[in-house]
Formats: sequence, structure tokens, C-alpha cells
Amino acid sequence: MSHEGIRFVPKDQPAGEEAAERNLSRAAVNPAKVRVLLSEGKGLEIDWSDGHKSAWSFAWLRDACPCATCNDERGKDGRKPGQPKPKSAAVLPMYTPPPRPASAQAVGRYALQFNWQDGHSAGIYSWDFLRRVCQCSECKFAAQETTGTPN
Ligand SMILES: [Zn+2]
Ligand SMILES: [Zn+2]
Repeated sequence: MSHEGIRFVPKDQPAGEEAAERNLSRAAVNPAKVRVLLSEGKGLEIDWSDGHKSAWSFAWLRDACPCATCNDERGKDGRKPGQPKPKSAAVLPMYTPPPRPASAQAVGRYALQFNWQDGHSAGIYSWDFLRRVCQCSECKFAAQETTGTPN
């Protein structure tokens, strides 16, 4: 394996799509560069058109899968996207390798889809979603400010 991941060069989004009622600018949800660091098993990096940079580990992305099933599961546990499942005490501790995708592909011009090695691939990670769950300290701090999360 010598190549350093899959590169996408997204085109500008067609004009007049949803984004309007959101408080994120078009540039904020328009990736200038997308790097899926598959061979390193590291994760996803996006440089946005507004100059912001985001990065996520594959483990985080797997736990943030936006498909209906995973959303439901998280809702039941009260987990936020990216929060791992609570370990069940009934299950014997077993080494599980960190989740990583076997492959990834662009979905139209608006999203990314991962084919996880566990066989799951239903999640469509839209640029809008990804920008909103940016894990950089600046965005995490801003999120805490607005929700006023204690502890
Ligand atoms: Zn899912
Ligand atoms: Zn950020």
C-alpha cells in the first residue's frame, strides 16, 4: 500500500440548495480539500473553503454514523454523535480493533460515505453534518458555550 488515501476534489455546490436557513455560510460547509487517510488508518481531514480545518478519527466517525439505525441507538443511550457505546459488563472484555473503513466514496457533491470493515455502510456524512461536529478546540468550545453543558 503506497498511496496515501483517497482524494476528492469537490466542485462548488449548485446554487439555491437548502443551506439557506442554516447559520453556516456556504463556504463553511464547502470543502476545499478532503483527505481520507485510509492506508494510515488515521481518519478524515477536511480543509473548508472558509479556511477552517477539521479532523476526525475513524473511531469517532464510526460512533457518529448519521444513519437512522445508529441515530436511534444513540438516542436510546443518550449519546452524542462520536460518543462510544457504553461497555457492557456482561460481555467479556475482548480486543476489538479500532473501526476503520475498507473504502470511502463521495456521495454526489454533498457527502461522503464509508464502507466500514464491520460491514456497516448506511451512514451518509454530509459536509454540513461534518462541519457541525468539527472536533477542533475552537468549535468544541463554541458548542459548549451554546449548550451550557455542565461538567
Ligand atoms: Zn449507522
Ligand atoms: Zn473547528
